[in-house]
Amino acid sequence: MNRKLSLTLSTFVLVFLSLPFISLASNPIDKNIVDKTTQVLTAQYPDANQQLLKRGIAHAASLWRSTDGSETEFTKFCKDNYVASATDKEMLFNKLTHYFESLFGHFNKISLDMQENVHLQSGKLLPIDHVFAGYSAGAHMMSDLYNNKVAFTVALNFPYFSTEEKIAKGKNWTSLQWGYARMGDVFSSRVPASVGQNNARISAQSGAYIAEYNIYMGHLLNDKKQTLFPEDMVLLSHWNLRDEIKANYANKKNGLDKQAMIYKVMQRIVDQSIPKKVINSKDYEWNPFTNKTTQNGQSVELKAENDGRYQQILNNFKALSAADEYNPVLNTAIKRAFDEEMQIPQETVEQLFHEFLSSPVLGDVAKIIKKRLGRKLQPWDIWYDGFKARSSISEENLNGITETKYPDAKALETDLENLLLKLGFTAEKAQFLASKIAVDPARGSGHAWGASMKSEKAHLRTRIPKSGMNYKGYNIAIHEFGHNVEQTISLHDVDNYMLNGVPNTAFTEALAFVFQERDLFLLDMKDNNPNKEYLKTLDIFWSLFEIMGVSMVDMKMWKWMYANPNATAVQLRDQVLVITKEVWNQYFAPVFGVKDQTILGIYSHMINSPMYLPNYAFGHLIHFQLEEHFKTHKLAPEVERIFALGLLTPNLWMMKAVGTPLSNDPILKAAQEAVDHIKK
Ligand SMILES: [Zn+2]
Repeated sequence: MNRKLSLTLSTFVLVFLSLPFISLASNPIDKNIVDKTTQVLTAQYPDANQQLLKRGIAHAASLWRSTDGSETEFTKFCKDNYVASATDKEMLFNKLTHYFESLFGHFNKISLDMQENVHLQSGKLLPIDHVFAGYSAGAHMMSDLYNNKVAFTVALNFPYFSTEEKIAKGKNWTSLQWGYARMGDVFSSRVPASVGQNNARISAQSGAYIAEYNIYMGHLLNDKKQTLFPEDMVLLSHWNLRDEIKANYANKKNGLDKQAMIYKVMQRIVDQSIPKKVINSKDYEWNPFTNKTTQNGQSVELKAENDGRYQQILNNFKALSAADEYNPVLNTAIKRAFDEEMQIPQETVEQLFHEFLSSPVLGDVAKIIKKRLGRKLQPWDIWYDGFKARSSISEENLNGITETKYPDAKALETDLENLLLKLGFTAEKAQFLASKIAVDPARGSGHAWGASMKSEKAHLRTRIPKSGMNYKGYNIAIHEFGHNVEQTISLHDVDNYMLNGVPNTAFTEALAFVFQERDLFLLDMKDNNPNKEYLKTLDIFWSLFEIMGVSMVDMKMWKWMYANPNATAVQLRDQVLVITKEVWNQYFAPVFGVKDQTILGIYSHMINSPMYLPNYAFGHLIHFQLEEHFKTHKLAPEVERIFALGLLTPNLWMMKAVGTPLSNDPILKAAQEAVDHIKK
């Protein structure tokens, strides 16, 4: 997990926006005034790059509201603030980055401080701690930057480029030109505060809807009126339900029956035939196969949930699409999720996933699973969990080592430099990186929170019990350490501050995976199970099959909502059933030998994290591309070089990093090798 994501520039734009509501984007400066202003400035600066000048004026005009001044004042503002000379423009850029680093860096530091007691093991929490944890000191920053016209100076001189334009032109840009383009991203749109607030409210509602979607497993009955699960077992949809399916692969007694029952519950959630009153309640006994309910042995008719799940999705669609008209270029929530957040156009993501999902290797892996299970595949085997190889070293043994080595957070912090040396970093680099990472004892499972200014440290939060750090905790801490190293290199070593970071969240995950893979090596240990690597590859490969499938459903659903903006929740429900079956029949039915399954619609992310799902797949794809590269290149110097590339587009970053664009090839190749090895 990585928290820096929540603090990237684009998120500043979305979250910290707080502007008075002014009706409509149609308010901006009239086209005639834009043309007139362009003529005035062209006459004034005949040698300036006319295309950039035109673009800057048009972008500033699209953000200007009547409260910012009259049309005459707009023209005057442009005349007074346009910087024509390249030297002066670079000076303006350097000054802006200096101020932005201070603003973003300090607000990030304030957020860390406000949430410190809630995140760290610092003793008893008082209600006041939660008040400050929820307080956003930077909430008015963006609105202030419009009021003092900084936003317009930026928009005029560093106009916004769309992701398509960045992809097309960025190859030939210098890092300074890239910095200018990233400066332009800071003020790409001006969405009224009310739209953002409504969005936050709807998002909180759908979060609450999902948080209370529990199934009381001890109250499920099969056709023989038997309960299969413990009375007190309560599972949250979909995570716990899925994990219970996974856990039952080891149960030879009635694992299959339990899995079939959970699967039926999931189907009824997706198609909404689930009785509303069995959700989050133990008042009734429910047979998910017949859909009959009883209370104290008496049969009771209960109403189906019907469309509640899809109403939540529609609410999100309406809240998010309300921002469309204020985004001159990124005028759909789909474009903002893909072009802005992921920096990859949606079509490219879909094409890449289509290629993976069509791979013949999936069929080969399915055959291995069938053999291991000794039965035909069932649709829930998208969650097959049997590739987890047992390590040749016992967990007890490992716990003993990590508990002694790391009794507390300080012990890990002191050892960071040594760990970096082992990975091959030079003494100087190891010392510098370690000096920029603080290790804190976390209340929860931990995370990595990067700095946003060079004078601050990145934070590695890890949970350490009184008995010392156990192996599981250590394994996660090494993952977070990878994030911290990325955060530190990509802040300090990029060519300018506006380039700090990585193209999207998947890129930092990839380095976290690279570190995590080397956790035993860092303990001077080696696993001697020869199959372990191969099984691990197959495990990731099979989980990518599933996650790309659910991502496909999510993307197709959003496209359909945009094509049918007035659809009702019932119509959306029916369409999602169509989409899930289409995706299943195209990619899964040939592998599983069964048609028309709706299970790819079960993910709760579809309700409370719109269009986030594709991110999960990319972390693994990039990880395999990097590991392929590290087979022939030294790790540490390459990590230093690659993660200093900064905030380019994903494909350009990959090209500069490993010489190929984002690709399925390394994982497909590794999976094929694993199949060949396991079959032997
Ligand atoms: Zn992570």
